Amino acid sequence: MGDASVETIRLVGGHPAVDFVNTVDDRRNSQSPDALTDYVDAVRWAVRAGVLEPALESSLMRHAADTPGAASEALARLLVAREALYEVFLAEAEARAPAGDALRAVAELAAQASSHRTLVYADSKFIWGWDHHEVDSILHRVVFAAAQFLVAASERRPLGQCQGPNCGWLFLDTSRSGRRRWCSDESCGTTERVRRFRNKAARPQG
Ligand SMILES: [Zn+2]
Repeated sequence: MGDASVETIRLVGGHPAVDFVNTVDDRRNSQSPDALTDYVDAVRWAVRAGVLEPALESSLMRHAADTPGAASEALARLLVAREALYEVFLAEAEARAPAGDALRAVAELAAQASSHRTLVYADSKFIWGWDHHEVDSILHRVVFAAAQFLVAASERRPLGQCQGPNCGWLFLDTSRSGRRRWCSDESCGTTERVRRFRNKAARPQG
């Protein structure tokens, strides 16, 4: 659970694709703040989360300023992808199969993202780079990272979901017990401890 600013939102998911789905709080709550209300927010978030190369920030910002319509459509695509990824990640956290439509959406987005990967020779070595620097650069990078994260499930810890009220954030559960309950001890964990303390204090003694 966090505030709705891309500058300060907690990155506690353990992976950029998980932090991406955590850019909005509890989806059941209509008052839930969303950190991504503008394409510019998405660019800033992507650089901060390590999804987008900082060198691309200014060109994407310029592009967004020059073609605001294209930027807001790109943001809409990002949010659709975010919700599909959330459903697929949540299914893992709940140890069930993902809903078919979310799975198809993620698979389709991953295929599109993969089609933009290209072999690049830089600093005397080959790396997988990206073939263009358009408004969907963030979408492609985050979806590709998500797909890699999903296929690596057997080599990493499972996802969990924060049990804090009005939170619902997901996280890679790296705790020794595998029973982590909070997105972070400093936010939802503290809120819960304060709530329990108050309940205890409010109870009549004797
Ligand atoms: Zn939480």
